[in-house]
Amino acid sequence: MALNLFNTLSRSVQPFTPLDPSGQRVGMYCCGPTVYDYAHIGNWRTFVFADLVRRTLEFSGYTVQHVMNITDVEDKIIKRVRENKTTLREFTGKFETAFLDDLKALGCREPHRKPRATEHIPEIIALIKKLVARGVAYQAADGSVYFSIEKYRGCGCCYGQLLKLNLDEMRAGERVASDEYEKESVADFALWKAFVPEDGDVTWDSPWGKGRPGWHIECSAMSIKALGETFDLHLGGEDLKFPHHEDEIAQSEGATGKPFVKFWLHGAHLLVEGKKMSKSLGNFFTLRDLLAKGFTGREVRYLLLTAHYRETFNFTLDGLTGAKTALGRIDECVAKLRELAANIPSLNVTPHLLSEHSHLKLFTYALHDDLNISAAWGVIFDWVRDTNKRIAENSISPIDALTALLAWEKMDSVLGIGAKAEAEVPAEIAALAEERTAAKKAKDFKRADAIRDELKAKGWVIEDTPKGIKFKKL
Ligand SMILES: [Zn+2]
Repeated sequence: MALNLFNTLSRSVQPFTPLDPSGQRVGMYCCGPTVYDYAHIGNWRTFVFADLVRRTLEFSGYTVQHVMNITDVEDKIIKRVRENKTTLREFTGKFETAFLDDLKALGCREPHRKPRATEHIPEIIALIKKLVARGVAYQAADGSVYFSIEKYRGCGCCYGQLLKLNLDEMRAGERVASDEYEKESVADFALWKAFVPEDGDVTWDSPWGKGRPGWHIECSAMSIKALGETFDLHLGGEDLKFPHHEDEIAQSEGATGKPFVKFWLHGAHLLVEGKKMSKSLGNFFTLRDLLAKGFTGREVRYLLLTAHYRETFNFTLDGLTGAKTALGRIDECVAKLRELAANIPSLNVTPHLLSEHSHLKLFTYALHDDLNISAAWGVIFDWVRDTNKRIAENSISPIDALTALLAWEKMDSVLGIGAKAEAEVPAEIAALAEERTAAKKAKDFKRADAIRDELKAKGWVIEDTPKGIKFKKL
């Protein structure tokens, strides 16, 4: 089955085919962070979802060009820069670094390109100039340049492609200057915002005087620069459908006269402990808050990946504890397979043998069904159960173990949870273990047992195996 995805444009699940005539290359743009604070767990759901889409495309054999912008100039940022009496670059740089660290902690593949808005001012100005030349943008009396929805529609273009908008209730001539607004205020929106004293140093020269870009035009300019005037996939959280994505379409198609994006994919909201996240309810978490509670990025990733991307998901701390247990089951199974397959060269597993692996087939089928992740996890836990049973019955050959392991690695190339890293054995623990071995050799069992207890008190269990000592962290 080919990869099928729900396209917000058509409101239906469609087979995915790339624009590239050779069917190989895929361009994918995901709206990146606005770097004015640490990203919260709701934001992370979107970025982990984007990572799942990219990994699924790569798993399916496509070569993906993944672009994620960094919004480093926008209303909220300017307000914070002013409040913190700092410079734009210093302020946004700190949160950009934190964002990329967190992205890594969550096991997300790094986007190939991460363009910053402030480094694309000439491209933004060029795009606005095109819109003015085409008669769909104008400079108003306040000095700002706005996008005219009426003129755009007058050219036969559609405003409201991603969701139904009641354009008849739209009041002609009304304008909105802020970057974020409600559906009720469908109105001409700002492309270039004229300088006001509150902007401080955050200003650039333009044909319309000093000012700064609006948020929506930044994404149009950066995505077109990175991926061309028409590209395959555009992703984001569902809260971005309006006005951000609708405005991106209008600006891009208004300037180029070409379709902007083939597939629009939107990730659903997240609730925390059953409620909308808010600081006053105490259910507002950044990734850093969760790490400070002793959870790992891997556990958070697992939990975020348990729900289908188009379903509202209830994120709970109990769920995170459950994630620890679920991952433990996978880790144990993978570790046993590694032991069984330790001496088999992977050359012995032919691609044919791997492609016949029934769990891998079912896993692929689930993913290709609009990223049906719960069915995919169902396959993984069936695989764990079957494998454990075969190991317990001693009915798994080393070559079967290796095939199962390779199938797991292939499936994990999409899930991205990896195997739990082996804990490093501190020098002090290794030295004690050696002392114990020496004591045993000298038949000083009392001393050997005492060392074993001491190791346990320090959080380590050791096991004597034919291959030597095995360390396990408690
Ligand atoms: Zn965007």
